Amino acid sequence: RCATCCCQHKVSILTALTLLSMLLGLAFGWLVRAAHPSPLAVLLIGYPGELFMRMLKVLVLPLVVSSLVAGLCSLNTNNSSKVGVFTLVYSFLTNWSAVLIGILFVMLIKPGNSQIKQQLDIGEFGIHGGSNRTIYHIFDLFRNLFPDNIMVATFNLVETKLVSESDNSSEARNNSITSITRKFNSVFALDTMLVGKSETNVLGMLCISIIFALVVKQMGDRAQPVIDLFNILNNVVMRFVKVIMWCSPIGIFSLIGKQAIQMDDPGVTLRSLGLYCATVSVGLFTHSCLVQAVSYFVLARSNPFKFFRGIFQAYITALGTASSAATLPITSRCLEENNGIERKISRFVLPIGVTVNMNGTALYLAAATIFIAQVNEVPLGALEIVAVSLMATLAAIGTAGLPGGALATISMVVSALGLPIDDTTLIAKVDWLLDHQRTAVNILGDGFCAGILNNMNRRAAAQASPRS
Ligand code: ASP
Repeated sequence: RCATCCCQHKVSILTALTLLSMLLGLAFGWLVRAAHPSPLAVLLIGYPGELFMRMLKVLVLPLVVSSLVAGLCSLNTNNSSKVGVFTLVYSFLTNWSAVLIGILFVMLIKPGNSQIKQQLDIGEFGIHGGSNRTIYHIFDLFRNLFPDNIMVATFNLVETKLVSESDNSSEARNNSITSITRKFNSVFALDTMLVGKSETNVLGMLCISIIFALVVKQMGDRAQPVIDLFNILNNVVMRFVKVIMWCSPIGIFSLIGKQAIQMDDPGVTLRSLGLYCATVSVGLFTHSCLVQAVSYFVLARSNPFKFFRGIFQAYITALGTASSAATLPITSRCLEENNGIERKISRFVLPIGVTVNMNGTALYLAAATIFIAQVNEVPLGALEIVAVSLMATLAAIGTAGLPGGALATISMVVSALGLPIDDTTLIAKVDWLLDHQRTAVNILGDGFCAGILNNMNRRAAAQASPRS
């Protein structure tokens, strides 16, 4: 009992420290920004954060694979299909509700107008999307589900054949995408973070791991050593997480500090895009309260605020890192240690959730697309709204859980409406601000999904067991 108290005490100290470090990082960044620091100084300030992200990210792949194999093999066949199907259906429905909330808020508040482009000095590029482009994005999404080379999927990149292969005007498209990428890079210094640059194809790894686990499970006792191996690997990774978590305060201070130094002139940008940012933020908050918390309350029959307290460390880490994939190890630990989620549930649900259950991203993709339509004064009818809602739900699933991941998939939704793809540069200016928030909403959704399943499972087990 004492050990438990002590452990809980340590956890709250760590959470308080991490929260404090985030606020201090923001204040520090603002102060240093005024002194116009040299690039070397900015690099040094951001360096501990970079190392922290690298330590977290290196765990993602072994964690996803070992969690899925260990989790799936520890559930019986009936249970595993129920858990898998529930996770997918829950993710799809909550993503879709998030999209609808995003659309509703942007249409009601109307943050976009045609003057914004001039205010922010964004010229006309004239590169528009179209149904052709959208279809190739969808092909890419499914192509990535089935990587043709595990090593490439693991260590290299998410394939985007769209750029090089898809149609006759590929040169024009190449130029457009390269120019957008360059702009993103200059705005965010995202160099190593954009999809397509040395990032694991988590969606592909997820798919392969599930197939692998199903085969292992079918082999029964003969495959027991493989199951043991993955169980041990999973435990080893979780031990690493325990150590890395204590680096959170420094890592998050550094990440947020660097971001505050590097952001665009906040005066000009926020004057034009402030209403847009506020609309998305209010939408995200509404979704967390109305959909995530209420669904947990109704389905898990438990207090969502108590649950939120348990997952708070992961929530702040997501706010600080803007990467739900990098936060995955911490989410997993918070759920098991603080919220008492059974390992077999959290380890199976979280890797799927982190890939598919992207509520914040879905809301953002829809809201940003409608905003771009408003800026271009393109009227949207019912058909277009349905198209945006479906494309945003799909694109969210294809978005990597990385900082700025949605910037790489937004063109899929924007092109569905035939809007100028280059206008995504506009929203890229304030993306960092919204990215942190939507990432936190993404991981909250994963947590609530695991929590609901855990309670449902418990209730089913209690009903099944004979009464004493
Ligand atoms: N940063 C988000 C995440 O990691 C993805 C995105 O919406 O850009 O979940």
